[in-house]
Amino acid sequence: MTATLVKGWCPSLGTPMESGDGWIVRVKPPGSRLSAGDVRALAGAAAGNGLVDLTGRSNIQFRGFRREAIADFASLVVARGLGVAAVAVEQIRSVMVAPLAGERALSVAKAIEAGLAADPVFQALPPKFGFAVTGDGGLPIALDTADVTVDLDSNTIVIPAKAGIHSGAARDVTMDPGLRRDDGSEVALRLARAFLREAPPARRMRQVDANRVFAFAGLEPAPNDTKRAIPAIGALPDHGAVVVGLPFGQITVRDLARLADLAGDSMLHLCPWRAIAIRGDVPALIEGARRLGLVTDAADPRLRIVACTGKPGCPNGSVPTRADAAWAAHMDLVPAGATLHLSGCPKGCAHPNPATAVLTGRGGLYDLILGGRADGAPLATGLSMEEAGDLLTSLLESRVL
Ligand code: SF4
Repeated sequence: MTATLVKGWCPSLGTPMESGDGWIVRVKPPGSRLSAGDVRALAGAAAGNGLVDLTGRSNIQFRGFRREAIADFASLVVARGLGVAAVAVEQIRSVMVAPLAGERALSVAKAIEAGLAADPVFQALPPKFGFAVTGDGGLPIALDTADVTVDLDSNTIVIPAKAGIHSGAARDVTMDPGLRRDDGSEVALRLARAFLREAPPARRMRQVDANRVFAFAGLEPAPNDTKRAIPAIGALPDHGAVVVGLPFGQITVRDLARLADLAGDSMLHLCPWRAIAIRGDVPALIEGARRLGLVTDAADPRLRIVACTGKPGCPNGSVPTRADAAWAAHMDLVPAGATLHLSGCPKGCAHPNPATAVLTGRGGLYDLILGGRADGAPLATGLSMEEAGDLLTSLLESRVL
């Protein structure tokens, strides 16, 4: 297979993507949650290489399939109500729900999904375009995760506004769409229509002028004072739940099934910060997750490192990002408050935003970028992982980072 660098492509159930370790099949569970039975069924049928990724959009993707094994798996996903058979609809069915959110959030998400399926005009939406529903008791999620976010607590809709290509901080624009009347789903769909009218060939809402989109949708923009969401990890006694992180966003199929066994009758809520929230016996869940090697402590150094698939799983990766990330965590290279992004190539799949430091693979070695994205201008080039670690340490000691 020829290595390619394709931006904007997203695999889905009907449009799987070939990677260095076989085909990737992405499942988008409605409501961003799976029952333990769903997990066991998927784990039992996943004829891949035993690896599962959680995505930054609360989706779950199974890796290492042979092409001919995908159809049976996809049929099972549809039969369990975790996907739809219509390929064009499944491709755009990207509606995330905040972890642990209640029935109202689920019904709004369902209404958005129904609206997307009902009007073929939405099939022109780019594959990465997505919606989110927050509030209603759900854990906070970053408001720039989705292109259109319905916040049921503040009765507002938020869209990330246009930002400079090198800017990491998208400015948000919030407005009051009168959610009490229609719960926000209709307004969210109206904004998507406005995006389509305004945007082609933009891929994300952040690439267009938010004020123009609001104007197209007949809405008034207003300042947004929503606080930045901090991803929850560990015990959440107030929710009677735990949030366990997947090291570098990945878990084995076997351990995922074991986690489902720990969850019992509870749902597994997929979090966009590559974690899973579960209600239940908090001490027992924490202990069980710890035994599986999952992240149960917000101070765990693995949480300060983001890594893409890299080599050998991705044909674009020339460096073993996940193995190097585990080494960096073991060496405790990244202090609290900082983020290190290991990217197998400049595409930066795992973290599109700037990080404190980025190591981007090139020709089997790393380039070091400070305060930018994976495709940013490097401070140093051609580093082995050990050399990169030494350089990061010396920069920290001289407080350059
Ligand atoms: S960023 Fe990583 S996962 Fe994405 S294409 Fe490059 S090597 Fe592959």
